Amino acid sequence: MTKKIAFKTLGCRLNLFETDAIASAFSKEDYELVDFDSPADVYVINTCTVTNQSDSRSRRVIKQARRINKEALTIVTGCMATNYKEQLQQNEQIDYVVDNDHKTSVFSVVESHYKGELVKPDQFDKDLFGYAAADETFHTRSLIKIQDGCDNFCTFCIIPKVRGRATSRPAENIFENIRKVIDFGFKEIVLTGVNLGRYNYKDYNFEKLVEEILEIPGDFRVRISSIEPDGYSDSFFRLFAHPKLTPHMHICLQSGSEDILLKMRRMYTAKLFGEMAAKLKASHPGFNLTTDVIVGFPGETEEDFKQTLQLAKQIGFGHIHTFKYSVRKGTRAERMTEQVPEKLKTQRSEIIRQLAEEMKLGYRKTFVGKTQKVLVEKINEDGFATGFGEHYVPVIIRKQGLEKNSFYEVLINGLTQSDEPILTGAHVNQAI
Ligand code: SF4
Repeated sequence: MTKKIAFKTLGCRLNLFETDAIASAFSKEDYELVDFDSPADVYVINTCTVTNQSDSRSRRVIKQARRINKEALTIVTGCMATNYKEQLQQNEQIDYVVDNDHKTSVFSVVESHYKGELVKPDQFDKDLFGYAAADETFHTRSLIKIQDGCDNFCTFCIIPKVRGRATSRPAENIFENIRKVIDFGFKEIVLTGVNLGRYNYKDYNFEKLVEEILEIPGDFRVRISSIEPDGYSDSFFRLFAHPKLTPHMHICLQSGSEDILLKMRRMYTAKLFGEMAAKLKASHPGFNLTTDVIVGFPGETEEDFKQTLQLAKQIGFGHIHTFKYSVRKGTRAERMTEQVPEKLKTQRSEIIRQLAEEMKLGYRKTFVGKTQKVLVEKINEDGFATGFGEHYVPVIIRKQGLEKNSFYEVLINGLTQSDEPILTGAHVNQAI
């Protein structure tokens, strides 16, 4: 009998890739994918543990599944499942805890369970990349995992503990995955991992890998998801001249203060980051450079914070994601004494958020009168199409009858007057 299965993913695009692949595997068998807030026989929760808030959100979702159907089989996987494995195994609301190393075995765990076998998820082989190409996914774009884990051990970060050491997926395996999803009809692929720039497999580094991906035949474009500033050289930026590589990168700065970057054990200086950003923008005018900033890291003085503001203004980001530092159990920063008061963290994050909104609006205004190649993801209740242009800026196309998962050249004629200023356009050509 067909079983209903529901998925919930928290956290990053890497988690989204893994859920897409696992869900796609179930949809090929006698399982029906249903929404998470509806009754299901199986709930799979792919958790995140990057901040305290991620942990509490993951716990809430586990309770939600139980509330909807307490008879259902509940599988908890992902980074929080890896971080608190023993603790979660004691939790009666959870049937199976599957850590990141064994996440590819979720389908086998469920199938073995229904065959009445005694299952221990760790009995299955550890496999970080054993995911089949996903044809049925929860997104218009196809996420492609190229790498896992990290060796950097930034003092605030829990990821190396839950995702392990940096491991690169075999290049041919990546090319094959991409060829398959192009055949499935996907128009945009997003390269994802933990520390992409550190990709290293045989004679492939990140630059060579991306260069070869761009040569794969087909009507698609390539987007690079969040990346650290280290691991690739400036020559990498020449690849953005290729029409398939989208002119947007989210490169994590975290702080503009040299002292704080040292305390964070980041692999670059604020000076180098500024120079890299200037080179990138000079060689690719209009490039969308976005970033992450942590405010309130232990020991952050008023002067340190000012340096972060100054560097952000100097670079002129398309947007800044702001995070208030939160102590992560098991990280080196947890033992640092000069913790910044919560009130001060809130004040500083408000200032950065304000700057980020001003920068975002300023950057988006530069698109008026220009065209964007938009990949339509949704048709809204007015019949208008929404999606993102190549610069990863949201666009609403005020024209009816357009198709999802199709490219359109759109002449931008304004922005919406909303908190999230969206580009608007009406004059459209089918993009070739
Ligand atoms: S490089 Fe990124 S993933 Fe790696 S330890 Fe630092 S913050 Fe974490």
